[in-house]
Amino acid sequence: MQTTPNDIFDITIIGAGPVGLYAAFYAGLRTMRVKIVDSLGVIGGQLTTLYPKKLIYDVAGYPKVIAEDLVTSLYAQAAQYNPVLLTDCKIETLKRTGDFFTLGAENGTEHFSKTVLIAAGVGAFMPRKLDNHDAVRLEHHGLYYAVKDPKVFHGKRLLVVGGGDSAMDWVMALANHADITQIHRRDKFTAHEDSIEKVKNLPVKILTFHEIKQIIGEDKVEKVVIFDNRTNEEKELTVDAILCNLGFLTNLGPIKDWGVDIFNNAVKVDINMETTLEGIYAAGDIVWHPAKLKLIATGFGEAAIAVNNARIYTDPNANFFPGHSSNTNEKKQKEKVH
Ligand code: FAD
Repeated sequence: MQTTPNDIFDITIIGAGPVGLYAAFYAGLRTMRVKIVDSLGVIGGQLTTLYPKKLIYDVAGYPKVIAEDLVTSLYAQAAQYNPVLLTDCKIETLKRTGDFFTLGAENGTEHFSKTVLIAAGVGAFMPRKLDNHDAVRLEHHGLYYAVKDPKVFHGKRLLVVGGGDSAMDWVMALANHADITQIHRRDKFTAHEDSIEKVKNLPVKILTFHEIKQIIGEDKVEKVVIFDNRTNEEKELTVDAILCNLGFLTNLGPIKDWGVDIFNNAVKVDINMETTLEGIYAAGDIVWHPAKLKLIATGFGEAAIAVNNARIYTDPNANFFPGHSSNTNEKKQKEKVH
């Protein structure tokens, strides 16, 4: 259904990743009329598309939580306030029309909003892949760049490539289920210190300064040749599977044309999480500010700051401080009773 300018939302959130979902909850808490749109057919952003079954250890309140379960909880939290959620809706254009914004989607629909929160993550993203003919041929046949179902690796001889958080998290999750060798091209790991310590105490063979030279196998991965990048000495390992965690290539796409300042391939925000265009806020992986950390936990805080500022923008008489959520919810309960 095509919306009309009579249907102007208080806030439209671009991106239903964890940060956009939390922002939708928060805006509901602030009694704003909320629309949340995502270009994908599913909600949850990177958690759903890249690591649905991975354990996350650094979200407040959860000693550990499976990524897809966190998305389910975030959605349940947001759904309390009945936001309008549109999936398969990629926003291509964003412009001010008088005192509201018009968002144009790839599917031809238009959306109208007093404020906008860009929670578009890293824009379009794809895993960085091995530049190697056999790697192209054997992708999904023993060679993986993302894990949809960890059981694929159970009982297997697994080579994990990489030294960042994803590599470490998968080693921790799979160490009791697979025979793991981990290689990393340097001796410095970029993962959380605690994860590095934990992995060192697991029954995992770790080879630093090693990279993949060749992947061998007809229809599926059977062996891999790795080499020491200091000496060029080669080793052949018999493996059933290879899981590469080499980072991601990202592309801001249409966001570059929306008129907001871009810095470091991200949207620049001030301390209020407002972009260089009034009324347009940003939060999560998409933003750049001097203290930026690309984590779910910090994205949640940014979402709360952005939404409280957007609330004032829609009504300058509103309080910036939202009150405590228990007060707001208790008030809601009382309203329901009367
Ligand atoms: P995203 O999750 O990227 O969601 C953004 C959404 O916006 C996407 O769904 C996208 O489709 C949508 N979108 C983009 N452009 C448009 C558009 N033009 N129109 C409509 N929709 C659009 N962080 C942690 O804190 N702990 C971890 O353990 C952890 N592990 C990770 C493991 C891996 C393998 C990876 C890749 C990342 C990990 N992260 C972790 C990082 C974490 O996933 C991100 O910080 C988080 O997803 C950022 O959330 P977001 O909502 O800002 O963006």
